[in-house]
Amino acid sequence: MDPLHFAARSGLVELRCGSATFLSVSDSAIDFGCDYCRDDQNRFYGHVTQIGSDEGRRMLLLRCPRCGALYENSARGPDLTRRLTETEAERLFPGFKPPAQ
Ligand SMILES: [Zn+2]
Repeated sequence: MDPLHFAARSGLVELRCGSATFLSVSDSAIDFGCDYCRDDQNRFYGHVTQIGSDEGRRMLLLRCPRCGALYENSARGPDLTRRLTETEAERLFPGFKPPAQ
């Protein structure tokens, strides 16, 4: 087999493995607070309260109205959701202040 052809083939295989790994990791990595915020329909269509945003990273800070769990989600493009602790939210979104207990 000529080397160029081989390189192109192995590149393709790597890409496919990489994306499969990413998908399975992102599915299981999110520790949702309750069934309400686990539901994509609620998170992505404004039923979860937006309490901050980071224009630089184009991420939104969201809080579940039911259980109070914090998440960041990409403002546009493919949805990238991550559960945040209050400490992480304060660091990533300077406007965020944890509620006084
Ligand atoms: Zn919730």
